[in-house]
Amino acid sequence: MRWKESVLRVHLVNPSTQSFGVAVITPRWLYVLAAATGTRWGDPHIVDETLDPLDLDTIAPGDVVGIGIHTGNALRGYELGRALRKRGAWVVYGGIHATLFPDEAATEGLAHAVVRGDGDLIWPRVVEDCFAERPSAVYDGGRIGGDQFTSARWDLLPDRRYMWASVQTVRGCPKHCSFCSVWRTDGQEPRQRAVDRVVREIVELRRLGFRFVALADDNFYPVTFDDLAQARRRADPTRIRELEALREERFALMARLAELPDDLVFYTQITMEAAEDPEFLDAMKRAKILGALVGVESVTLAGLKDVYKGFNLAGDELVARLRTFRRHGIHVLGSFIFGLQSDTPKTFDATVALAERADLTFAQFVLLTPFPGTVDFDKWAAEQHRLGTVVDGIPITQHWLIPEDRRPRLYTAHPTMSLEEIRVGTQHAWDRFYSWRQVWRRSGVVESLRARLAFVLVSKLYRQMYANTGIATDSARVQRSARWARWIGHACRRLFLGKPMPELLVPGEPLEPAVN
Ligand code: SF4
Repeated sequence: MRWKESVLRVHLVNPSTQSFGVAVITPRWLYVLAAATGTRWGDPHIVDETLDPLDLDTIAPGDVVGIGIHTGNALRGYELGRALRKRGAWVVYGGIHATLFPDEAATEGLAHAVVRGDGDLIWPRVVEDCFAERPSAVYDGGRIGGDQFTSARWDLLPDRRYMWASVQTVRGCPKHCSFCSVWRTDGQEPRQRAVDRVVREIVELRRLGFRFVALADDNFYPVTFDDLAQARRRADPTRIRELEALREERFALMARLAELPDDLVFYTQITMEAAEDPEFLDAMKRAKILGALVGVESVTLAGLKDVYKGFNLAGDELVARLRTFRRHGIHVLGSFIFGLQSDTPKTFDATVALAERADLTFAQFVLLTPFPGTVDFDKWAAEQHRLGTVVDGIPITQHWLIPEDRRPRLYTAHPTMSLEEIRVGTQHAWDRFYSWRQVWRRSGVVESLRARLAFVLVSKLYRQMYANTGIATDSARVQRSARWARWIGHACRRLFLGKPMPELLVPGEPLEPAVN
């Protein structure tokens, strides 16, 4: 029996097995799809399980529930989907993992429908079809143009529970790193969003009191000098014009960000090549983009070859390049991978030492994991001996379906180290880089005591949330870390939020603007 349309609701759920009560960054997709949903069925009900677990009683038969999954939270997503279908809700999956495995979402998560690709434009049709009781099994949202990206419904944010907001300025990455699925799912052609729309969204967020905004981009520096040189060598005027236009748009965006209030701080993801371009780095600084995640991956040339990242540097050249960011006022969160075939027992200490020598403000040390959608995964899953390997009756080639406490932390045998040696070495790298002494020393990058305190807390929070809960095999340690993260998260929150500025205008737009 159908419920009356007026009481039917749309719910959007970000699954997580750990709830911290507060979170660092807003999961942008929830608020983008909320905007795409429209208001015909009232405001969508948004649930981010990194804050609080979903209360199943809030979902009624006939409601539509959109569950966004990536490989890391797919198992929890499927668990929710099964429970919700049993309650009579329409269950729809989207996100990178559902895009890659629509059939799995149907069998494991009992999906009524799966949305592949970008959900921004196709989502309203999916909702309509569900309420009309005739959803298709699969919807293909494709890759929409940058001018079609939907602005988020930030008015639906819960009060003061996130420290950083998130805004997207570009999707897609021209590189092809072997461990990364972005270039295959989001494509290699950068899709940049119109500058005005980005700026309006940021103004709206500053009005609400957000001072820290993550530019949730695949690669903020999508055109390198090498790309331009290659196009010139090929004497391809169309391509040269395209690349130059992309580059100019980046500068146009940064010029507009520079006009926004000085207490804003932006953070983005970028390739190391940006350090070749002082003009770009200076524009970033003026735009208040003061932090960037840079995928360093390995400190040796052999390691970089392992991951198809020959465009990165190693050794002293690497240190010099990373320091260039700092010289131009950009703080780097360096990302390193452990477990590469060329790694040795000395790699862990050498990596931490390099991170310190290169003046990195933050660092993350991740274990090499064959994530689906990557070149590494395809090669790994195709190896003959892998095909018959099971854990708890689940094929290792679907490792994300293995219950978390029994899931291996590493998947590829190493020529010289045991998997446990790699796991422990990685844990030690986190411990060393984030020791109290080192964190306090690095906190000298900010001036006031309040800012130093924020720096120390956020460093510790980062370590607790991402290192201990992701690498530790001991469940007591994981639980302890989650409790710590919850406590630090609450303490940090106030340090990041600013006084709301409801009167703030969009630069160059004297009248009160519409958000879209
Ligand atoms: S790791 Fe970064 S640079 Fe490499 S393909 Fe992915 S997004 Fe692009």
